Amino acid sequence: MSFNIPKGTKDVLPEDSYKWHYIEDAVREVTRLFDVREIRTPTFEHTELFLRGVGDTTDIVNKEMYTFIDKGNRSITLKPEGTAGVARSFVENSLYAGPLPVKTYYVTPVFRYERPQSGRLREHHQFGVELYGSYGAEMDVEAISIAKALFDRLGLDSLVLNINSIGCPVCRKEYNKALKAYYSERVDSLCETCRGRLEKNPLRILDCKEEKCIEINKDAPVITDYLCDDCKKHMEDLKKGLDTLGIAYEVNPRIVRGLDYYTRTVFEFVSDSLGAKSTVCGGGRYDNLVEEVGGKPCPSVGFGMGIERLILTLEATGKMPAPNDCVDMFLGYAGEELKYAALKIVNDLRKSGISADTEFTGRSVKAQMKYAGKIGARFTAILGADEIESGIINIKNMTDGSVKAVAISDITGFFKEADL
Ligand code: ATP
Ligand code: MG
Repeated sequence: MSFNIPKGTKDVLPEDSYKWHYIEDAVREVTRLFDVREIRTPTFEHTELFLRGVGDTTDIVNKEMYTFIDKGNRSITLKPEGTAGVARSFVENSLYAGPLPVKTYYVTPVFRYERPQSGRLREHHQFGVELYGSYGAEMDVEAISIAKALFDRLGLDSLVLNINSIGCPVCRKEYNKALKAYYSERVDSLCETCRGRLEKNPLRILDCKEEKCIEINKDAPVITDYLCDDCKKHMEDLKKGLDTLGIAYEVNPRIVRGLDYYTRTVFEFVSDSLGAKSTVCGGGRYDNLVEEVGGKPCPSVGFGMGIERLILTLEATGKMPAPNDCVDMFLGYAGEELKYAALKIVNDLRKSGISADTEFTGRSVKAQMKYAGKIGARFTAILGADEIESGIINIKNMTDGSVKAVAISDITGFFKEADL
């Protein structure tokens, strides 16, 4: 009997894992520069958290959650996004009582029951940032700058930043009225889900991916015409900050994002190198989320970035570097009786910080060297009876073919001088 991977999930194979490390290293470096600390929350939470936090009229909650009843009869859901869990932790651990702002990031698996396609999986991973404690647009600028700094570090210069404001509960009330009036006249042409949304949350219709709704959405009223003075000012302030930092953007009044918790700023970094336009990073401000999950009001802003989509974008634009994690030294040996002598030398090298490998499958010397070539070993040598006797071994530089005789007792010294 053999098994297949569940639909919509992916293995990261050994030959590809360096890509993840490349991105994760960049994430750690960029977050360090911005003084953002990692937070790790569980892979699953009580379902109720997402109903309240993400919103029960969203696609994510309505159609995409992995929910089950555990043996203790609790309703549990695998994280469909990262923000709600962090907000729960922020409240539960009283992080709001410490010095503000609290600046956190995470790298986490995310589970959504979606129709799998390129860049759309049922388990994907997100790098996300959550910044708590400031109503000021400068914090929105900070969040956007973190995402931008990561893209810059990875050499991705083709992403377009779209920004919008979806207002606050005050101006959204007016806007919702306008949307209701608009869609009520066209209710027969809406998809079934959107007909349900019309009463509960018409803003959600704007994010619908159904062809017929996309068509109707084209002429729908735009939020920018309904923003209250405070929200307008926030948007102006955000633009001023982005201008000052030299971060290019386009105002796109059509983006609303797929989660209910946003207030005022929403933004997306969009790539057009993946065929259809695709969002690599989405975020915004959510000033009411902390209260929604049981805390005292505390403003926050953040984003989620899909790591698989980031990898696809890096590959599509030729910005993914080649692997450079090949082993420094492969030490073969001639004769079974030398296997531990070889392993000892290899282990000494490892203790000195030099990556090293030897033979484990009983191959001939010729086959060992073929293997060393396949794995891209930078240097190779073969330990035989002669080498043991003389205490000298020939180390071959696989890049230029040069060979150097080195004392076995000082192989480490050789590598300290070698250009690895
Ligand atoms: P989309 O509009 O593409 O469905 P979304 O609005 O659902 O995206 P968010 O919930 O904001 O996206 O998630 C943040 C990021 O996570 C997205 O910009 C994307 O890069 C990534 N992402 C979201 N869903 C998936 C998925 N099913 N598979 C892979 N990556 C995803
Ligand atoms: Mg989605």
